[in-house]
Amino acid sequence: MIRSLLLVGISSCLWCCTAEVPTPQAPVAAPTEPAFNNPVIKDKFTADPAALVYNDTVFLYTGHDEAAVEGRFYQMNEWLVFSSTNMVDWQEHPVPLRIADFAWAKGDAWASQAIERDGKFYWYVSVEHATIPGKAIGVAVADHPTGPFRDAIGQALVTNDQTTATDIFWDDIDPSVFVDDDGQAYLFWGNTKAYYARLKPNMIELDGAIQVIEGLPHFTEAPWIHKRGDWYYLSYAYQFPEKTAYAMSRSIHGPWAYKGILNELAGNSNTNHQAIIEYRGKSYFIYHTGGLQPFGGSYRRSVCIDYLNYHPDSTLKRVVMTSEGIQKQ
Ligand code: CA
Repeated sequence: MIRSLLLVGISSCLWCCTAEVPTPQAPVAAPTEPAFNNPVIKDKFTADPAALVYNDTVFLYTGHDEAAVEGRFYQMNEWLVFSSTNMVDWQEHPVPLRIADFAWAKGDAWASQAIERDGKFYWYVSVEHATIPGKAIGVAVADHPTGPFRDAIGQALVTNDQTTATDIFWDDIDPSVFVDDDGQAYLFWGNTKAYYARLKPNMIELDGAIQVIEGLPHFTEAPWIHKRGDWYYLSYAYQFPEKTAYAMSRSIHGPWAYKGILNELAGNSNTNHQAIIEYRGKSYFIYHTGGLQPFGGSYRRSVCIDYLNYHPDSTLKRVVMTSEGIQKQ
């Protein structure tokens, strides 16, 4: 009897132990760290982006924030160029253009934009003029989108004294160039006042009077023109610290209808400078933030890219700035 009870007990224990053994399961996968594609350039500080699509490659033109310490004013002596065929992996090319390439300029390699015309590449830049007080716009030219670029005219294209809508000496900065479908080229620029003028087909001379653009509330600087379908879009830096706002028109000459904020304050930076391109069927908003850490900020900025999307009525959806950025195209 005792032996039987013992057997029952052992059997119960075996059953009990067997029942409590957990069923083997596959190990739980560790959470995947998302790829943080913004900022897109992480080994140096880049600012004031412009981009150009040529031969199915994206060329990204930037300023170079070289301030040794964040919080002091801009230290910018050269421009940089990068290229990519997927919008995520960027190859830097040798420095294509420096202040020293403009004999008549003495500093401040500020915002710029490059464009292709008839197989040549024209790069419009903001600088400090050496002899005419104030900022100025120069233009460089090259046979390849990555340069090397050289001063195209040996003097400024626009000097401070040519525009008098404001008394400030830094209103002639932030050039944006646009070639319309009919082949007419235009240069837009400005600070607190927005200006534009026709460019001659040679791209290195203004053609006609400089016009002041109205209808852009709280215009600070950084105009960018793009066209989609029958609509022209003029985006710009709004207020200060800067958001990005935009206006639309059926004509490059306006009138411009203000459409609201396109991008909010860009993290950790008091400026906000945009470029808008289409590449392989998608639209991109390229801008800068002070988000590259450590030591990023308003004078040590970094270029970021996020998607740009349109509403069915052709207005723009507000940009969503992300750390992840965009996916490879
Ligand atoms: Ca002026």
